[in-house]
Amino acid sequence: MHRHVFGPVPSRRLGRSLGVDLVPFKTCCYDCVFCQLGRTTCQTVQRREWVDVDAVLAEVAARLAEGAQPDWITLSGSGEPTLHSGLGRVLRGIRERSDVPVAVLTHGGLLGDPGVQADLATADLVVPSLDGGDPSTFQALNRPHPDLSFEAVTEGLVSFRRSFRGRLWLEVMLVRGVNDTPEAVQAIARIARRVAPDRIQVNTVVRPPADPGTLRVEDAVLEELLPLLGPDAEIIVPPAPFRPGTPGASIDADVVELLRRRPCTAPDVAAGLGLHPVEVGKHLAPLLSAGYVEAIPGPGEPFYRARPIPANLGGLVPSPGALELDLAGRCIETAARAARRALVEALVAPGPLDPRLPPALELLDAFLAKTDFPALRTADPDLAGGREGSVTLRQGSDGSVTWSKGPGPGPEPR
Ligand code: SF4
Repeated sequence: MHRHVFGPVPSRRLGRSLGVDLVPFKTCCYDCVFCQLGRTTCQTVQRREWVDVDAVLAEVAARLAEGAQPDWITLSGSGEPTLHSGLGRVLRGIRERSDVPVAVLTHGGLLGDPGVQADLATADLVVPSLDGGDPSTFQALNRPHPDLSFEAVTEGLVSFRRSFRGRLWLEVMLVRGVNDTPEAVQAIARIARRVAPDRIQVNTVVRPPADPGTLRVEDAVLEELLPLLGPDAEIIVPPAPFRPGTPGASIDADVVELLRRRPCTAPDVAAGLGLHPVEVGKHLAPLLSAGYVEAIPGPGEPFYRARPIPANLGGLVPSPGALELDLAGRCIETAARAARRALVEALVAPGPLDPRLPPALELLDAFLAKTDFPALRTADPDLAGGREGSVTLRQGSDGSVTWSKGPGPGPEPR
């Protein structure tokens, strides 16, 4: 179970991209109508240490050591990475641990901040967005935090480009009926000329959007509009085809983690995790029936996404065959009993039964029944209270329960 690192996922521009998530789910300055993650639940412009930098770097190192072979390490995921105040330390830390180039996908709204500019200095590639060429289109598409004005954001982009020595690709998201006219695209082009990116990448709505009325621009219209953005503009190509790789220790957990960050079709999952398409089907079917994953209805190839984790489960994160206990200064026994209370409350809450909960409770009960907690506390001071961290419980195929400190690589080695 990787909490901050996911994939590699298929990226239309970066091939196989190992994602690094620096903020909690849907923590963002914007609330874009086309966002594939749904509505923003924490809209903020405050930069802070949303997740622990050392834990992120340890997960990146572990995933690479498992044999992941990404083309890029990409800071993106569940929200806006520049909101993390330790972004610079993360980038330098990845650089120390790997030769894989590092990209940062950002909405670009904070690029005028000198602290963000300094943090991003060591990235190989920064990909900010520019979807509206005027304040009302910016407002309609991106629904920004009230502290972010169109003028400040566009001037921030220009100022960042002047200071940044890596590559900069500008992403332009076109939405039917909003910014898909020549006038709207020319307004974007005027700002883009001031930014002078190395490339402009034109995108449209290809995954289920936050607002269901947000529509894809037809290919022929994209082709017509493309020249207005200049010779360095391109339409983003489909994902790379299947290429064998080494998936993580637990395929089920990796599929769920991937779908938690990005709705994908089955071929997307295959390309991202380096699996044969037939094998993806074998994993998706039980994950669907167990309730970890749901299909999103719509025309064409179905998309899948991970079902949200019930908010009342706190630090306990159900994943196939594994549970994670957040110690939060408590001893292991107290943390396990608190997790059990949260699980039971979720089980008895009104509404349909979440099928992930009964096996999670079974695993926790087996751990509570079989563990000699006084001996465990004596043997390991980290588990005796007063420390931060987590413990991952795993169910073995013979019903046994094992545990390890930290977010482990998954429930069962294959
Ligand atoms: S698309 Fe990106 S910038 Fe827009 S709301 Fe989603 S995460 Fe935030």
